[in-house]
Amino acid sequence: MMHTEVKEGFASRALRCVLAAALAAGCFVASAGMAFAYSIDDPLTEEELALAEGGSSASARSLDDFWRWPLPGIGEDHISQDFWSGHGAIDIWAAEGTPIVASRGGVVVATEATNPQELDGYGNCVVVYHEDGTETYYAHMSRRDVNKGDRVYLGQQLGLVGNTGNSFGDHLHFEIRVNATPDEFYWGKRIDPLPYVTGHEYVASANGTYFYDVDFGAYAQWYSELIDRAVVSGLMEGVGNNQFHPEVTVTRAQAFTILCRAADADSLYGNGSNSTPFHDNQVGQWYTGAINWAYSIGLATGDGDDLVRPNDTITREELATLIARYAEKVRGVNAVASSAALAGMDDAHTVSDWAAERVAWAVQAGIMTGSTESDGSLLVKPKGEATRAEMCAFIVRTVDKVG
Ligand SMILES: [Zn+2]
Repeated sequence: MMHTEVKEGFASRALRCVLAAALAAGCFVASAGMAFAYSIDDPLTEEELALAEGGSSASARSLDDFWRWPLPGIGEDHISQDFWSGHGAIDIWAAEGTPIVASRGGVVVATEATNPQELDGYGNCVVVYHEDGTETYYAHMSRRDVNKGDRVYLGQQLGLVGNTGNSFGDHLHFEIRVNATPDEFYWGKRIDPLPYVTGHEYVASANGTYFYDVDFGAYAQWYSELIDRAVVSGLMEGVGNNQFHPEVTVTRAQAFTILCRAADADSLYGNGSNSTPFHDNQVGQWYTGAINWAYSIGLATGDGDDLVRPNDTITREELATLIARYAEKVRGVNAVASSAALAGMDDAHTVSDWAAERVAWAVQAGIMTGSTESDGSLLVKPKGEATRAEMCAFIVRTVDKVG
């Protein structure tokens, strides 16, 4: 293996940067009047650790609770320089042109030196500010694909590996900083990024499903397998660029489209005409046919007006109601249950009267499960907006249960 030879031989020493030297000498000295002492070897406080871990709440590990490895497909055996007192980063060598992706979502706050010392030597680079006061730095790019001010998603391609700035050989210089602010981005305190990105490579599912924002394997989220099944069975798709956006809310048009696929009716209704009374079921949209179908079987009824509101978000109780009606109209299931089925839910009283027997059925059928909170309560969250991950869970379980 060429990689192994380079890694173990003298050449690997070159695949690193000399930002180290500047940093060891106390680089990032504050400008006049700013008393700021920068250090990379102070132990982190509890608060800083909490920040580095992705927030103060240890419960509910969400999409943004940890960073991901920034070079998909490049192993940790490519680390050519560790974090140490003179190098507040890890260097990862990879061939010029290897894609670099955002290790977390955030906003690009800098891409080049703006004062003599800020980012001097970083070459073509990107600094992403994350909303909890942490930042990631990506240096020495051969090409940059984002600009200052851009909002970037977890896993979005930021640029390509290169050898610009104070760099010897193609590699990515990657930093995580804590206690940063978006305006004074270079003040953040560097921490060793390795513990936060180790083991967080992008892993494909057993079926080959591969999204930058969904983990499989050791770091799988609760929804990973459900997304995998929904995608493999053709019920749901990613949003492009190997993204799934599991935490983004689902729209009514998406819900109708997914139910239409579950009914195997998606090839029966074209998008070329609107056969409903809904003025906002616009002809030629990706969802037009699905709404035609939903109207034809009485699934989409409108709210007593002539609108179907395709782009509105949908609450969990609305989605449970839609799914229960799908079960009835498409699969002939009597999809109602008494409110006794909600007895275990601590917020059962917040379910709307019009949705109660539908939500009860969805819970009883195991399609909708409660969410266990940090205080031990179990909530069905009827008014919460359904996410794409939840949609995956509901539709996969619905197909399992009723077909
Ligand atoms: Zn470096």
